Amino acid sequence: METNLWIVDKSVDKKKGYPQLIEAAHLLAENEVVAFPTETVYGLGGNAKSDEAVRKIFGAKGRPNDNPLIVHVASMEQLNEITVEIPKLAKTLINEFWPGPLTLILEKKEGVLSTSVTAGLRTVGVRMPDHPVALELIRASGVPIAAPSANTSGKPSPTTAKHVSDDLNGKIAGIVDGGPTGVGVESTVLDCTVSVPVILRPGGVTKEALEAVIGPIKEDAALKNQAVTPKSPGMKYTHYAPNAPLILIEGSREFFQQIVDQYKAEGKKVAVMVPEEHADDYQSDYLVRSGSLANLQSVAARLYDTLRTFNDLDVDIILAEVYPETGIGQAIMNRLHKAAGHQLIKEK
Ligand code: AMP
Ligand code: MG
Repeated sequence: METNLWIVDKSVDKKKGYPQLIEAAHLLAENEVVAFPTETVYGLGGNAKSDEAVRKIFGAKGRPNDNPLIVHVASMEQLNEITVEIPKLAKTLINEFWPGPLTLILEKKEGVLSTSVTAGLRTVGVRMPDHPVALELIRASGVPIAAPSANTSGKPSPTTAKHVSDDLNGKIAGIVDGGPTGVGVESTVLDCTVSVPVILRPGGVTKEALEAVIGPIKEDAALKNQAVTPKSPGMKYTHYAPNAPLILIEGSREFFQQIVDQYKAEGKKVAVMVPEEHADDYQSDYLVRSGSLANLQSVAARLYDTLRTFNDLDVDIILAEVYPETGIGQAIMNRLHKAAGHQLIKEK
């Protein structure tokens, strides 16, 4: 299949009404799948009402069928079309955080969406992306758009159109290139079907920000304890992994350097992933800067690009520093633990 490419400048083309999106929206309405930018990562979109489109999404990504897709809407009418009554807390969150990187799990309206979107669950994950290109594309297609991240399942999520193309060129109808995404990690997934909402996946909207609006919320126990089965089916899968093994190191910089030296002594080529502030502190074969400790948003924004960078290097092992688990740091560490397959070496 030939993959179309449409280049859109989100600020310049707005005034013209995004003419590049006409063909992409048309293909979506015909149940083809198209990748597009959102404020979090690139999504692989398809008509959420169509079994055919949803099958194409799972097929192109190689995604396990039991992992439900998030449905993206461009209006409250579309939200009401796919869900039954929305709880009061959820309404408050919608007013505060939409459009934005917050996915709400709500009870779905029966018989509207393709059953494979929700992997047979009674609930649906839904959000309104904060990106003018995404919103216009959804609006122009005329249907709610199911969109997981536009990467091959298991690989780091895509934050540029090139990442999408590296994984999916030839497998999808098109890519809308709107430049690099902003937030860099996926949306926060919040279960709103229970009386006290539960974070199933940390993401772009922090726990602190949610609690400032609706008071104390819970976190799925599986986020802290690997022995517990996650409530979100997708959270049990390996994800975001670079080609070479990644190990997280928790401890002093001296301790980190000792681990580097041990691997080097074994004849391994070692890459390290460290914040800018520590870039001069290590001696290794390769050093990749992850962003600034003083601004964890910058680490989130380039996290997946950083992880993909290692695939272009001739490296046997990647060692990465850990980050404070406050604010967006929670989402960063959630993704890094997964990318590392939960391998962590801690200084005693
Ligand atoms: P992705 O599409 O890769 O951003 O992943 C979407 C995440 O949301 C996965 O972890 C899914 O398991 C989760 N998710 C989507 N819909 C639901 C739902 N109805 N209930 C629980 N988790 C969901
Ligand atoms: Mg994904």
